Amino acid sequence: MAKLMANVPVQKNQLIELDMTGQGHQGEGVGRYRDYTLFVPGAIAGERVKAKVTKVNKNYGFAKLIEIVRQSEQRTEPPCPLYHRCGGCHLQHMTYEAQLAHKRQTVVDALTRIGKLEDVTVHPTLGMDEPWRYRNKSQVPVGLVNGKIVAGFYAPGTHEIIDMEGCPIQHPYSDEIVNTVKRALADLGIPPYDETGHKGLVRHIVARVGYATGETMVVLVTNGRNIPRVDELIRRLRNEIPHVVSIVQNVNTAVTNVIFGPHTITLWGKDGIEDRIGDVRFFISARSFFQVNPIQTQVLYDKALEYAQLTGRETVVDAYCGIGTISLFLARRAKRVIGVEVVEEAIEDAQRNAELNGIMNAEFLAGEAEQVIPQLYAERGLRADVVVVDPPRKGCDEKLLQTIVDMQPQRVVYVSCNPSTLARDLRFLEDRGYETQEVQPVDMFPHTFHVECCSLLVRKEN
Ligand code: SAH
Repeated sequence: MAKLMANVPVQKNQLIELDMTGQGHQGEGVGRYRDYTLFVPGAIAGERVKAKVTKVNKNYGFAKLIEIVRQSEQRTEPPCPLYHRCGGCHLQHMTYEAQLAHKRQTVVDALTRIGKLEDVTVHPTLGMDEPWRYRNKSQVPVGLVNGKIVAGFYAPGTHEIIDMEGCPIQHPYSDEIVNTVKRALADLGIPPYDETGHKGLVRHIVARVGYATGETMVVLVTNGRNIPRVDELIRRLRNEIPHVVSIVQNVNTAVTNVIFGPHTITLWGKDGIEDRIGDVRFFISARSFFQVNPIQTQVLYDKALEYAQLTGRETVVDAYCGIGTISLFLARRAKRVIGVEVVEEAIEDAQRNAELNGIMNAEFLAGEAEQVIPQLYAERGLRADVVVVDPPRKGCDEKLLQTIVDMQPQRVVYVSCNPSTLARDLRFLEDRGYETQEVQPVDMFPHTFHVECCSLLVRKEN
């Protein structure tokens, strides 16, 4: 029998009934049972549920939803038949309206708890009119199950591949590409990768779609260079996928969970695809980061542009610029934009994208933002009127934030994919002369728990 923990009123495998009083930031229901906090994935605030305790920690635990005793009006039937077996989405059991409200609340909670920011305006989340089929990139593992080639997703917490015909958040072209490649591999006898023995060949199928252009790209990630019957494979993919403009192989022979390896070879067509956000064109190669929801990216960047309040006279620094997407979006309204990004290839793409759009007033520098920007400030006297940051989940390095404070831009536009680190960084800037005026959550990833925000900070007059 499971051991009882001191002061914990439940034990593992115990069946309990409790009310869900809140929603955790990964979308789980949260409730208290005799003053002990339990997270129940799949339950919704306002529901009363029966749940079986699965994990007991000192201050909180987890329980599995067994039965809904009282159902929330926010509950809906998840449209995807694989929802309960796939770990990709977390909120399909909530109405879209409820998802948007939940995401806004997650932001408010982080700002008040972590950032101690009580009076900031947090707008209602900007959602999609049609929150399906929004993703432009699909990466699916390939394997062999009972002699049959499967491609789909890993069952949560495992590396067991669940075969999939389609995914309702992906662009239909991606589903078509995955299914076509899967059939072609089977017919041509090209072996999938076997993770347990590190044998076999095809590890992942990656499909990318340009929403505005209709161009698609197929990437085969392989455990080795040589693909048997590769000419037949290419012919078949070209025949069966009318929108494909680029077929690429990426070689990854390492024993790793990282999808891409270091070598990329174009098998046929272009080295990448083109897409547009607004009227800015972007060339995207196999490994470059590009926002996965192009429709909402425009909404997000329009907000960044609005917050930047450019008149054409400003110098703008865009830290964590990727392939220059925000920089180029802002460049036409600014005097000068300087983008900084750590991945060298992304900087090459950014330069290429500036040329593609005839944009002459954007420069791109490779390096860590917290190294490059302090250097530009201290050694070359760089000043900015507006600083835009769009860091990864861990947020901004303090050294960069301090340089922003020293540089004294009028406005800081903070684009964030993680409300917790956003709140932490806003507090840092609040304590050093900036006021957070408004925060706009944007739903870039419907049906998942992820939430993106665009925030405006303005320098307080002293
Ligand atoms: N603004 C871009 C990319 C945002 S994603 C867009 O909207 O598309 C965050 C980017 O930060 C990634 O491209 C990542 O490579 C980069 N990055 C991560 N750590 C960094 C650091 N310390 N300095 C500069 N860039 C960094």
